[in-house]
Amino acid sequence: MVSRPPIVLAIGGSDPTAGAGVQGDLRTIGQLGAYGVCALTSVTVQDTCGLSTRQDVAAELLTAQLTALAGDLRIATVKAGMLGSRANVEAVARFLDRHPRLPFVLDPVLAATAGGPLLDADATAALIAELLPRATVVTPNLPEALLLTGRPAGDDRAAEPLARDLAAAGATAVLITGGHRPGGEVVDLLFDGATVHRLPTPRLPIAAHGTGCALAAAIATRLAFGDALVAAWAAARAHLIARLRASLPLGHGQRLLP
Ligand code: PLP
Repeated sequence: MVSRPPIVLAIGGSDPTAGAGVQGDLRTIGQLGAYGVCALTSVTVQDTCGLSTRQDVAAELLTAQLTALAGDLRIATVKAGMLGSRANVEAVARFLDRHPRLPFVLDPVLAATAGGPLLDADATAALIAELLPRATVVTPNLPEALLLTGRPAGDDRAAEPLARDLAAAGATAVLITGGHRPGGEVVDLLFDGATVHRLPTPRLPIAAHGTGCALAAAIATRLAFGDALVAAWAAARAHLIARLRASLPLGHGQRLLP
């Protein structure tokens, strides 16, 4: 009998460059040997130089996508990225209510690196109240962690108190990625509610579009294969570093991950 790959559900926005968003997630999931399915939350208009506009999908249409997929396929893990609107945040929360045992990786996408909001201002509060408590792991970078905890930027550059704040807000585990902090090393920090783990890697002189999406999607994929969280995180980091090294300047702006 043919062995079936685990199925990972990516919920997120469309990125026409395919570097980030659901297109990037499906590539990450496939590269790691799982089968990716997706539910679209928003259509963005962007190229490697930046984002110009977006139109969010109606929450009813998002719910219909999620219901159709879950009714047909045996989903192993869920990854959510860009959600766009408050109504879409709530639609994802209701979906997770109906599937409470599904491991859920929440990448709290607030804005594009190149500028442009990817989550409405009034949706951030809903994401904190409704999705953080359902997250197996939430994966903010440092600026996102500062915004989610309400700490002023520059007030506290240390990731550990931010991770503890986000765990107190309900996330089972918190991974704060270190790429946005200065220094010769990138230090990711994972707090699993009991222990603080640190994963230092040398900083590559390479930046690319969609690295946050790629890391979170890879973690969701390794969790779908049954890895424990710390092992999933290490495998996801290694996969991302290999892709960063192989990233390509295909457009006029940010490099794209293969
Ligand atoms: N577009 C979409 C649809 C995304 O989900 C994301 C990130 O998650 C981005 C753009 C931003 O990518 P980056 O900030 O890495 O350029």
